[in-house]
Amino acid sequence: MHTEVLVIGSANADLVVPAERRPGSGETVLGGDTTVLPGGKGANTAVAAARLGADVALLAAIGDDAYGAMLTESLRDAGVRTELVRKVGRPTGIAYITVTPDGENSILVSPGANSALEPGALDFAGAKVLVASLEIPLPTVEWAIAEAASAGVRTMLNLSPVAELSPRTLAALDVLLVNEHEAAALLGEGVGLGKLLELGPRSAVVTLGARGALVLTGDGETEVPAPPVEPVDTTGAGDAFTGALAASLATGVTLETAARMAVRVAAISVTRRGAQPSYPSAAELEGR
Ligand code: ATP
Repeated sequence: MHTEVLVIGSANADLVVPAERRPGSGETVLGGDTTVLPGGKGANTAVAAARLGADVALLAAIGDDAYGAMLTESLRDAGVRTELVRKVGRPTGIAYITVTPDGENSILVSPGANSALEPGALDFAGAKVLVASLEIPLPTVEWAIAEAASAGVRTMLNLSPVAELSPRTLAALDVLLVNEHEAAALLGEGVGLGKLLELGPRSAVVTLGARGALVLTGDGETEVPAPPVEPVDTTGAGDAFTGALAASLATGVTLETAARMAVRVAAISVTRRGAQPSYPSAAELEGR
């Protein structure tokens, strides 16, 4: 199959309900109206990359149900190829998100179909970049990275949520992408981020929220500052960054150049509500 960016990861329906407070055990609380949004780290990453004009396919699992149909439609609308989105005999993954007036979220995820995304026959040759994230079974992530690496495809892992990777998988990575919390979980608190490369990947990028990102390669460390913006909603900023980094790397630029583009894309995404709806197109990015 011919695609520039192959994304493997989760696809979830996000059911968002505003509430004055969270229900305690055994309690019922009435909330506001539910908003249903397409989400999941894999789907978000694929949409962010496709909006920027990359040729993107998503490898994911959904159920044969209405949420699965909604997710497929939102992927297609963004220009993501969906022939590798498998329908499995489990319900589509759902994130139940309660938002309270203090702006805090509490999230219960039912992974459903995402748990049934198994390794399977797939031809990685021809792809330029594979991007994986968690929220799907770890053996499937490790399989995809090993297969892609042996087919000569550049491999990128957004280690979110954090998981324990085999040394073999870490060594097969071209780019390990983590936020500060994930870096601390991997290295231990207080350990310098430069130590990430000692774990095995050829390069690493650490996202630093409003401060931008740190790029680590064999040549040294480069800070890439984020453009200053007034954030409105940072949901899915990490996925915007991941998708933009992959789309940019697929054009053959250096990791530092790709990270400079990714901070611009992620900065736009935090100025708008939602995850996927907040991701800019290539034309919008040009206009800034
Ligand atoms: P999330 O879980 O919210 O999706 P994350 O924790 O994975 O995000 P962050 O490091 O918080 O990742 O943010 C990812 C990127 O988004 C940052 O590297 C930065 O480029 C951009 N970003 C996040 N917050 C801001 C902000 N307030 N202003 C500008 N850019 C931001």
